[in-house]
Amino acid sequence: MEKEFVSLVVPPKEKTGPALWFAIQEDKVLIQQESSSATIPRAVDFAEFGLEVLRQHYLGLLDGCHCYAVEVAEEVTPPDGMMFEGLRQIYGRIDEYLFALAGRALQIIDWDRTHQFCGRCGSKTRLHATERAKECPKCGFLHFPRLAPAIIVLVRRGREMLLVKGRRFTTAMYSTLAGFVEPGETLEEAVKREVKEESGITVKDIRYFGSQPWPFPHSLMIGFTANYAGGQITLNDSENIDVGWFTAENLPSQLPGEMSIARKLIDSFLESSNSPMA
Ligand SMILES: [Zn+2]
Repeated sequence: MEKEFVSLVVPPKEKTGPALWFAIQEDKVLIQQESSSATIPRAVDFAEFGLEVLRQHYLGLLDGCHCYAVEVAEEVTPPDGMMFEGLRQIYGRIDEYLFALAGRALQIIDWDRTHQFCGRCGSKTRLHATERAKECPKCGFLHFPRLAPAIIVLVRRGREMLLVKGRRFTTAMYSTLAGFVEPGETLEEAVKREVKEESGITVKDIRYFGSQPWPFPHSLMIGFTANYAGGQITLNDSENIDVGWFTAENLPSQLPGEMSIARKLIDSFLESSNSPMA
């Protein structure tokens, strides 16, 4: 079911009706456990949960329901039936639109607590009244939430796709190639550089596929497809354990989670490679 979210900064003057409360404790979010799935707690006022609030940000409206991000202290215990869990732990157990908002809440809280002082002059910053920004009252410098753009690319060679098993993966999973965009680089240049660095091959026909916020801790994944242009596979073993070509008939035993853009790229490839036109 498609939900409409409207991002806002200025909170409503009065609290009317239950709001969604994305409560953050360090890098965890408060969830309400419901048998096999989970949801985000709702209340008119966060005070109903009896947890002290360190900082609060209004996020906006989800289908007319107010959404807030709040930070609570490290030592507080969650109310009955609720628990603090990492984003990765709730991934797949919570509705996709709530997961996206939990990621947004976590990033805004983390940005607020790590930008309490101006990076230019060292004065204490304050929240901007109408924008998602922290301003320095002394020098006027504005600090916006951090976002690190990263490209992710599925490279195709006929009925084969290039997948990689990264050193940072803790399982047998293979995924598409990905990496952060460098300052001064276009997205297309980042795609070419990353593929070359990680696999030794060159690519052409770079096409935009889609994007996905990736709050670990503050990335934005920008997805592309590309075709093989030339070169031989050479493993970059500081980053990866294996890199290779795979087909629909010889897939690795483990693929990325279904909500991830990496999986959407792979599924889209498999769909097209199974069609009679491929
Ligand atoms: Zn300053």
